[in-house]
Amino acid sequence: MITFSNSYAQLGDVFCEKTRPTPVAAPQLIMWNSALAEQLMVPNKLTNDREFLAEIFSGNHILPSAKPIAAAYAGHQFGHFVPQLGDGRAHLLGELSDKQGNRWDIQLKGSGRTSFSRGGDGRCAIGPAIREYIMSEAMSALRIPTTRCLAVVNTGELVQRETILPGAIVTRVAASHIRVGTFEFFAARRDYNSVKTLCQYTIDRHYPELKQENSIPYIRLINKVIDQQIKLIVAWMRVGFIHGVMNTDNTAISGETIDYGPCAMMGSYDPNTVYSSIDHMGRYAYANQLKILQWNMVRFIECLLPLINPNVDKAKNQLTPLIAEIPERIEQKYIEMLAKKLGLSSLEPNDKILIDSILNQLKNKKLDYTVTFDQLTKSIRSKDITTQMHNQLGEVFNLWKTRIEGQDMHSDEVQKLMRQHNPVVIPRNHHVEKAIQQCEQTGQTTLAERFLQVLSSPYIEQEHTSAYQDPASDGDINYHTYCGT
Ligand code: AMP
Ligand code: MG
Repeated sequence: MITFSNSYAQLGDVFCEKTRPTPVAAPQLIMWNSALAEQLMVPNKLTNDREFLAEIFSGNHILPSAKPIAAAYAGHQFGHFVPQLGDGRAHLLGELSDKQGNRWDIQLKGSGRTSFSRGGDGRCAIGPAIREYIMSEAMSALRIPTTRCLAVVNTGELVQRETILPGAIVTRVAASHIRVGTFEFFAARRDYNSVKTLCQYTIDRHYPELKQENSIPYIRLINKVIDQQIKLIVAWMRVGFIHGVMNTDNTAISGETIDYGPCAMMGSYDPNTVYSSIDHMGRYAYANQLKILQWNMVRFIECLLPLINPNVDKAKNQLTPLIAEIPERIEQKYIEMLAKKLGLSSLEPNDKILIDSILNQLKNKKLDYTVTFDQLTKSIRSKDITTQMHNQLGEVFNLWKTRIEGQDMHSDEVQKLMRQHNPVVIPRNHHVEKAIQQCEQTGQTTLAERFLQVLSSPYIEQEHTSAYQDPASDGDINYHTYCGT
């Protein structure tokens, strides 16, 4: 049987509300992640009992060790502070340990109203559930830190959105659900005891290497969280992922990608790409994600200031240099990532100009981001593709070629380096939409399953990969995503 632990629930009543999922009419398991289930040591006997799985992962059956809670959090949404958000349609069942002894949150999303629901129905439509499953599994296979999905259950009930849609509950597996917004919730209430508890819990759970006796190393924690965010957003940039709602309530302190709402993959390269229909100002545009990262980290730092020094002005002065250095830290990692995409094993002074020129060509010629880097990777050992890429990119291609050939590296090694950073396939928006549509209209998940099979090896061309490599006919310039609540 599954045995949950409940360390977050044990933090106390100010952190969460004890509340049970609202049972659904006719739960049916439509997606099950058996690889993840195995990693989480879900017993085989249970894995084979789809009816019981549907009962458990709809919240209809609460296992004895589960202590369902809705977590409290706040957050800055599009720059505006909302003092109370919280799990308005999610229940944390508890935590499971995997084979390596790592602890994972098992959370149902779409499982009914809680005291944080405000006007919402506590439910989730099937489309956003399938999107979260496909996108998070794709991101995981792309080696990008992310929450994952264990299951999707069709509830047998309908939800009212712009139209009436089938309802679903998605089971999310996360390193934890602590967000920058969780810290903000307590800081806004001047409950610094709870902020402190949360810092200690974060260190114990995510960053045990920071543990020290008798005190909490706040500055080291801040630096760690910043490092993890930089790694994460730079990894998004590497594959063209646009989160769409990088609000502080959607910023996980573990450094995982969380809350797949109006996210999308960039088609034609353009730093200003925005797909979310609610992001009118382009606050969360592709390239702006690197800047918002800093903005979100400053919100996190603000929560800890009174703990660093009760004289907040002094704390601010102490932190100013650290904050001032964030853009440099981001830029360094970002440029290193691009260098690797281009097969450069180390950076030389002129490389930044070269990299910028290549990206400018992509932008000016409206080239597909993934295809171009895939082709550049292939060009290392193909004359035909070399000619083709030269035609597309012009003189800058020759400059790049000269630069990589000047490295003390065999071409096989260069290609290997590039391939590690350039996927052959990504969860392209139009294919994700097709899989979602099938499920919405027929309840079938065959397209999603087939797509996921290809996405599970995004750096290797398999038998069916080519069917998913095609950019949208308009390069996705007319693509729009909607907040999937
Ligand atoms: P999200 O857009 O999923 O990140 O959610 C933002 C906030 O709105 C969170 O506090 C959610 O719990 C809440 N929320 C979103 N959708 C619903 C819903 N259908 N019912 C209740 N609360 C919701
Ligand atoms: Mg959210």
